[in-house]
Order: sequence, then C-alpha cells, then structure tokens
Amino acid sequence: MSLVTLAGVGVRFGAQTVLHDVDFHIERGEIVTIVGPNGSGKSTLLRVLIGAQRPSAGRVTPAPGLRVGYVPQKLHIDPTLPLTVRRFLDLPRRIPDAVAAEALAQAGAGELGLRQMADLSGGQFQRVLLARAILSRPDLLILDEPTQGLDQPGSAAFYRRIAEVRAELGCAVLMVSHELHVVMAASDRVICLNGHVCCAGHPEQVASAPEYRALFGTGTQGA
Ligand code: ADP
Ligand code: MG
Repeated sequence: MSLVTLAGVGVRFGAQTVLHDVDFHIERGEIVTIVGPNGSGKSTLLRVLIGAQRPSAGRVTPAPGLRVGYVPQKLHIDPTLPLTVRRFLDLPRRIPDAVAAEALAQAGAGELGLRQMADLSGGQFQRVLLARAILSRPDLLILDEPTQGLDQPGSAAFYRRIAEVRAELGCAVLMVSHELHVVMAASDRVICLNGHVCCAGHPEQVASAPEYRALFGTGTQGA
C-alpha cells in the first residue's frame, strides 16, 4: 500500500483555484521532489498532505498509523529570545537526551546542541529543523524548500544528507525544491506542479519533458 494517495485533489481560496485534479501517491522509502513556479500550489499541496489544509475536492488517503515529519517553508524564531538548539527540540514537548542526540547526529547537527538558534547559519538552521522533523521517526518526511537561501554546494550537501537520512531511517521523503539540477541526484522521482501535475517521472525524464521546459525554459535551472 502507498504511504499516502491523493485522488482528484483540488484547493480553492475564494475565487482562486490553486490546485485542481491532483492525483499522486508516495511509496515507502522513495524520495520525491516537487518543482514548480512560484505560486503554483507546492506549499498548499504539502499542507493538504499533512492535514493542515482541507481540500475543496478529492480525497487524501494516508496509510493507517502514518507518521509524518514536516519542515515548513518559513519558520520564524524570535532572535531576541535565548533558545539553544537542544531546548528548541524540546518544543512543544520534552525529548529524552539520547533521542535528541541521535536525531541531531543523523541530521548532521551533532555539534550544535548548545548553540543559540539565532546564531546558526542558514545551513545549520535547516539541519536543526531536519533533526526536529526526524525526532518522531517518521515514515514520511516532508520538507518545503529546505535549501532556500543556501548556495549550491550547501544545497547539494543538504540533499546528500537527506539521502543518508532516508537510508538510516528507511523513511520516504517528499520535498519541494527550486533547483532541479541540484536535487536530481538525490531524487527517485520528480513531480512538476503548476496547479496540477504537468509531468512526473524519473528526474532526467522530467528535465527534458516539453511540459517542464515550457515552464522553466531549456536550461536545467528549475524554480
Ligand atoms: P508555492 O508554494 O508553489 O509558491 P503556494 O501553495 O504557497 O505556492 O500558494 C499558491 C497560491 O495560493 C498563491 O497565489 C497564494 O497566494 C495562495 N494561497 C496560499 N495559501 C493561501 C491561503 N491560506 N489563503 C488564500 N490564498 C492562499
Ligand atoms: Mg511554497
């Protein structure tokens, strides 16, 4: 059985149709990347998947007992608030030290526990969010533009880390990326979204698909 299946999903905000007729599924252990222009409904689709946004049409069917870890596109932390990485992991509920240490190590943030959240670099911050998302040993890890603001080597390193997390936890990963050429190597499957699924398949296949090229041009840079 798929981890989660979407059938005919639509989302409207007032008169605006953001998603229509979205069908897709995620299988156990696969890494799926969503690419699409700004405003194409990528974050909305992830929010539907985690149950934070009710679809106006269609059905979302998660596998029974599915555990999901989620990293939102934007997470604002008050920089004037003293908050160590270790304490951050205790929000909203306390986590045993051994569990926190393991998640931090798996996320490549093993040395950051005593640092202040406000002092982290962009890449360190994303690794800490990743650690928080894997605390609950998810079957499905959902990441909304986790490499936004990172340079290309930083992004590539983050995606290599994601592949390692998948190997260690055996979880599936669904992420949104704006850099198809950087994320390709770490993805089993790519979905190009523009209000609906324009094209989907193996990363190389999507990069050369006419539907993808119509949105992003013939270069390899994706939004
Ligand atoms: P993406 O992540 O692909 O950039 P989003 O899913 O964030 O796109 O947004 C798609 C469209 O839906 C945008 O036009 C956005 O303004 C609109 N939108 C998203 N969430 C809401 C909401 N809660 N209420 C009204 N409009 C929304
Ligand atoms: Mg978004």
